[in-house]
Amino acid sequence: MSTAVPGPAVRDVSVFGDAIAYFNEAATLLNLDPGMRAILTHPSRQIIFSIPFQRDNGQLEVYTGYRVQYNFARGPAKGGIRFHPGVTLDEVTALAFWMTWKCAVVDLPFGGGKGGVTCDPSTLSMSEIERITRRYAAELSEVIGPDKDVPAPDVNTTPQHMAWIMDTYSMHMRQTIPGVVTGKPLEIGGSRGRVEATGRGVSIVALDEMARLGIDPRGAKIVVQGFGNVGSIAAKMFAEHGCTVIGISDVSGAYVNENGIDVANAIAFAQEHGSLDGFRGGDHMSNQAMLEVPCDVLVPAALEKVLTVDNAARVKTKLIVEGANGPTTPEADRIFAQNGIVVIPDIVANAGGVTVSYFEWVQDRTGWFWRESEVNDRLRDQLIENFDVLRGIAQQRGVTYRTAAYMVAIDRVVKTLKLRGVYA
Ligand code: NAD
Repeated sequence: MSTAVPGPAVRDVSVFGDAIAYFNEAATLLNLDPGMRAILTHPSRQIIFSIPFQRDNGQLEVYTGYRVQYNFARGPAKGGIRFHPGVTLDEVTALAFWMTWKCAVVDLPFGGGKGGVTCDPSTLSMSEIERITRRYAAELSEVIGPDKDVPAPDVNTTPQHMAWIMDTYSMHMRQTIPGVVTGKPLEIGGSRGRVEATGRGVSIVALDEMARLGIDPRGAKIVVQGFGNVGSIAAKMFAEHGCTVIGISDVSGAYVNENGIDVANAIAFAQEHGSLDGFRGGDHMSNQAMLEVPCDVLVPAALEKVLTVDNAARVKTKLIVEGANGPTTPEADRIFAQNGIVVIPDIVANAGGVTVSYFEWVQDRTGWFWRESEVNDRLRDQLIENFDVLRGIAQQRGVTYRTAAYMVAIDRVVKTLKLRGVYA
């Protein structure tokens, strides 16, 4: 039987409360006992701290920092750090919760974590951002580390932020410890293939599922929403496999060409102009309209909640591959299931990034750095092996890939918890 989860963090209105909905569905199918449910719906540790920093004009200000270490059963916590005005404890907790399942479903030896600073980086100079980042790392120096919690970039944080965190942490520990963060620049212990890993992972699982569905990549019509790190790389990989990318989009709108967009040209255009604004390789339309263009594969790779009850019934595709985190609402998910549209959920589809982060952590700890082809081959193996596991569960139990993914992830975390025993 399900137990109500106590505590103020699980209010109906909270992001964390929403996140728990998918967990509960899978937990019920697994007959998870109330004690395990209670443990897994409570974060292990939530840290809130003040970040005093000096403005370039000498004035002192204080921002708030967060780190949530949701679960350690399978290994050190793992997850990004975001700098954004909307960062709250509730949001960071939900993101750390998702990371727990994402790491488990692709079988990485990590728990889940996430962090952030409530700030608007567009109002800060680079040196102000550096001071905030270093103070953030210093405040957490006792609770992060290669065997404790391994942060990475997220919204508005980059390899440069990771370099500052690695340096600050190493200064406190009096030795160079590159494995404290992933997503670092190559020169200081980053991994080859990390930048492309998420988009590459999207295309790996998509092409694998297309083969199962009998969709020939040659000529398959692909639509990709978002043309940043994830979307542009995914589009490039699809084109390299002979697919016809008929739609791409970014914040400037969507560009659709039934004969195929020249993806390499679009990437060069976006790099030169900062966005696709003014791109002439396709007819301009709204992002919303592009989501309804008939295609074989639709890849939302921009924002959360873009496929909703308002447009789901008009989406004409065979396969949705969630490059972004949380692009589909639960109501839209049900409509897709009814309409026979297969959805590869975010925790699997965009797990390529965290998988290569794991490879980076392994390389840092051994001091042995792999060729890019080795990284890419291992990424493919890790994703496909685990996608096959959840595909088996989906078939056996007659559930969607999303439910199967949560079932596999929860089962793995519960098994480790039971083997280790609860120190209670
Ligand atoms: P990014 O900032 O590089 O790119 C985001 C893209 O979305 C940009 O092209 C932007 O113009 C576009 N965009 C913004 N608002 C839009 C709108 N209203 N309509 C259409 N497009 C819009 O970000 P990213 O790293 O590519 O991340 C995209 C998504 O993938 C996010 O949900 C992120 O959480 C998720 N994700 C990223 C990674 C990673 O390794 N980068 C890993 C896992 C998940």
